[in-house]
Amino acid sequence: MIDWQSIDTVLLDMDGTLLDLHFDSHFWLEHLPRRYVELHQLDEASQEALKARIIGEQGTLNWYSLAYWSRELGVDIVALKREVQHLIGLRGDALDFLTWLKTAHPRVVLATNADRASLELKLPLTGLEAYLDAIVSSEDVGAAKEEQAFWFALQEIEPFDPARTLFIDDNSRVLESAREFGIKHLLGIKQPDSQRPEKELQAFIALDRFAQLMPSDMPLETPR
Ligand SMILES: [Mg+2]
Repeated sequence: MIDWQSIDTVLLDMDGTLLDLHFDSHFWLEHLPRRYVELHQLDEASQEALKARIIGEQGTLNWYSLAYWSRELGVDIVALKREVQHLIGLRGDALDFLTWLKTAHPRVVLATNADRASLELKLPLTGLEAYLDAIVSSEDVGAAKEEQAFWFALQEIEPFDPARTLFIDDNSRVLESAREFGIKHLLGIKQPDSQRPEKELQAFIALDRFAQLMPSDMPLETPR
């Protein structure tokens, strides 16, 4: 699927790609709306209104900012996330892939829309940092991955040759943005959220397991 001889840099998304999106889906669409109405003693209708508002902001830099939501909703988002932090975890064989990448040679960079507060919560719980050469958050550059500005800024911080770069992300709008920038090797994720059905990414090949990317002499599955 990938000729590793032609790849120098691997850019990886975090939520829904390396980590199970279940934590985020559960937090934003269930836990936060429920706790928000509890904390402010609001009615059921406010819970639905908040869900709609959260969905409406998707894809913007605000949507990814914990500070924004803390301010807007008058709650401590990080504290509320900690209430369900046991749901934060790696997807299927993500750790096998990261381990293999470390022994292969490409530069491995986390390119995430998660803000620094999210990273502070998730990195220590998942041990991801040990496998990454660099971490770039859209908060650092002031533009979400959906915007071309993100990619120009990323290239300033972390120079890469788009023709020799592989980018993996579960969000098709983000993959389209990366394609527009000129990144040649693009892959999606078939099931970003372990508790939700698989999804089709019409314009991109979606990975079932990272094992599909590793050379065939690698065991397809390691016991865990
Ligand atoms: Mg993602």
